Amino acid sequence: MTNDVECFSIPNKGIDLNIANEIYNVGIKSLLDLYAHYDVKSTFYFTGIMAETVPEAVELVKSHGHEIGCHSHSHSESKYLDTLSYEEQKNELKKAKKVIESISGNICSFRAPSLRMNEDTVRILEQCGFTSDSSMCSQRFDGPFIFGSRRELKTKWLFAHRKPYFLSYESLSKKGNSKILEIPISASLFSYSGNTMRRSPFLFKLLQKQLFYESKKIEKPSVFVFHPHECLDYKNKTNLTKENRNISKYYMRDMIKYQLKSKNLGVKSLELLDNVLKCAAEYGFEFVSASDYEKEYKNKGVGD
Ligand SMILES: [Zn+2]
Repeated sequence: MTNDVECFSIPNKGIDLNIANEIYNVGIKSLLDLYAHYDVKSTFYFTGIMAETVPEAVELVKSHGHEIGCHSHSHSESKYLDTLSYEEQKNELKKAKKVIESISGNICSFRAPSLRMNEDTVRILEQCGFTSDSSMCSQRFDGPFIFGSRRELKTKWLFAHRKPYFLSYESLSKKGNSKILEIPISASLFSYSGNTMRRSPFLFKLLQKQLFYESKKIEKPSVFVFHPHECLDYKNKTNLTKENRNISKYYMRDMIKYQLKSKNLGVKSLELLDNVLKCAAEYGFEFVSASDYEKEYKNKGVGD
């Protein structure tokens, strides 16, 4: 189980620092209860800004025995790593690591905001002292309703390894000699995530069945992504007013996207997640954090 902790507001379709406390009090606390029930050890990737705004969230997650990871400093579109220069990326990562570590102590696991990074990121992660990344989403295919990721990166995902591998400096989807262990998010056309789970619980069940089967067969971890902000109930908080329900095709596209993204939020998302954990526990999975998996991988040579 992995959790990306950023101040993202689904109705506002962007970062909103005003909901940081709600994400902590409603989202993170509910998740910690649920994880305790199923004896889950997971990784919470915090943005530096989120850690700075609600440091008590980092402390509480850590006190529950989960791993604290890094989700870069800012999650704003203007700071997506693949759009930044080498030096700018380095600044973001250094800033985030410093802020988070001042609260949690040493951290070593990373995931890029919106899963967007490039080959420069690999060297920067090494320089900043990270040892694992979980930003690749092998064989996820972004359909017409998912925007915002560069075509170049999407294509790379289609050819990326499904099992964990050491990243190369030349291509993110190739095995290489870097010290960064890539632990890809599970996917098969659709990502194994809260977003897929909420948008289509039926499709998600089929996906999960396939991924669990594959995990057993080739000893590969199933990596699930959830966001504490999915536990928030945004009813009546939408900013889709009549005015912007314009017939123009962009708004139509926006509306469809919004309707899909806002399905099964709040308590409903926790019920669905409860089912995922129950099912995984019945299947015999052990829930480990990214750093625990990394240790096991290096000790036993779990990979091929
Ligand atoms: Zn994120």
